[in-house]
Amino acid sequence: MPITGECFCGSVKYQVDGKLRDAKSCHCSRCRKAFNAQASAAAFVEPGEFKWLLGEELLSSYIGEHGYGLQFCKICGSTLCTVYKSEVLQVSLGCVNGDPDIEIGQHIFVGSKASWEVLPEGITQFEAWPPEKT
Ligand SMILES: [Zn+2]
Ligand SMILES: [Zn+2]
Repeated sequence: MPITGECFCGSVKYQVDGKLRDAKSCHCSRCRKAFNAQASAAAFVEPGEFKWLLGEELLSSYIGEHGYGLQFCKICGSTLCTVYKSEVLQVSLGCVNGDPDIEIGQHIFVGSKASWEVLPEGITQFEAWPPEKT
């Protein structure tokens, strides 16, 4: 069964023909706003393995510095994915359906987490970037 995901209103759907990898949660102030939550939660996809199934025309894009950006549903506002140079780079885990067989491996930028967030025990966390970026 391929991994699928969709926005809150169900107007936009996608499929990943492969595995999600390198799931991270970033607690920085920018990710809090981009993901409307205490942190981002996203996993990488292989470029050729991602495809939109429905509602691609309903996507809005916000492209920030260096060509990295976000795509979200125009109707309900769910942040579906991150993009780099208009290619889907990561999917936000909140929009993935069911069990995608992956866990968040690293919590990054916990040094700038929100004052109101209480971090769970036992997580792998870093003050900022993890020691080696891949
Ligand atoms: Zn939607
Ligand atoms: Zn961040």
